[in-house]
Amino acid sequence: MPVAEYMALCLFDPTHGYYTTHDPFGARGDFITAPEVSQMFGELIGLWVSAVWKQMGAPENVRLIELGPGRGTMMQDALRAVKIVPAFRAAVVVHLVEASPLLQAQQEKALDDAGVPVFWHAALAEVPKGPAIVLANEFFDALPVNQAIKTDRGWHERRIQIDSTDQLAFTIAHEPMPFFQTLLPPDLHAPRVGAIFEWRADTEAIDLGRRVADGRGAALVIDYGHTQTGLGETLQAVGQHAYADPLTLPGSLDLTAHVDFQSLARAVEAMGTIGFGPIEQSLFLRRLGIEQRAAALKATANSTAIDQALTRLIGQSRTAMGELFKVAAFAHPSVGVPPGFEI
Ligand code: SAH
Repeated sequence: MPVAEYMALCLFDPTHGYYTTHDPFGARGDFITAPEVSQMFGELIGLWVSAVWKQMGAPENVRLIELGPGRGTMMQDALRAVKIVPAFRAAVVVHLVEASPLLQAQQEKALDDAGVPVFWHAALAEVPKGPAIVLANEFFDALPVNQAIKTDRGWHERRIQIDSTDQLAFTIAHEPMPFFQTLLPPDLHAPRVGAIFEWRADTEAIDLGRRVADGRGAALVIDYGHTQTGLGETLQAVGQHAYADPLTLPGSLDLTAHVDFQSLARAVEAMGTIGFGPIEQSLFLRRLGIEQRAAALKATANSTAIDQALTRLIGQSRTAMGELFKVAAFAHPSVGVPPGFEI
């Protein structure tokens, strides 16, 4: 089967899928995401959202949509932070797009006393029309990725099979894909034999662009990935905070691949939005004031823990998120420059 089909089954098979059977987050889970590192992350996102809403002309009703909300922590922290903007709280209706029933149940618990209406949907296209702001933290990396490999006969789709020893193994489609080379960016036109190219379907990016354009609003996409389309394999499996072979334990490990922000932006912008960034998460969070927020929290809380969280979120080391994670925004032309993306 194609790599994307394998990834989709591993993550969302109704009985064996990783997200349908696991709560992957937290220190005791398989990995930790920015909102789970510290409340500061969701709080700043909340303030970003309320500022964008003002730039939209403060519409009386606004849909705040989150794609793949995990445990619901980011939305919980965001809604708490915007208590300082009561007019926004009065205008907002929350829509969560979640594929895992297990995580939806956790989100219901987290947002039980949020004080604003919350609805769940299986896909963004199901969210009713109207002014909209969309958030996606570590959503696009979980979407299935396709792979192709260069051989001396051309580009072949990479596939997964069961080999003669009954193990899962990578293989390639017998026939090369005729026009594949011409679809790649020009600077990738002389790949060496063995090079791997990854791509995703544009479906979710197109839906996102359409929603931002129709809703005369904005979107914020935060994820790890590269700013320019390039060669290389990034498909990875993670379990218990360690990397593993993606072909072992299907359904028990998280599978992700880097987000190609250039290709994402092309699809979102084609629907009539203006793209901003991507910039590094470190720069984005510092521009929103994370250092000031950390200083304020330290006055009343365990300052070592807050310093550690801050380093994790904006640090530049390999284990920190500041440089690896990128932030892109997309906005309807009437919105102007979203906060954090000023030149
Ligand atoms: N944003 C959260 C969780 C990131 S993990 C955080 O930062 O902590 C990815 C999330 O996206 C999970 O909630 C997963 O169930 C959801 N997800 C992945 N693919 C999806 C899809 N195609 N449709 C809806 N939700 C999806």
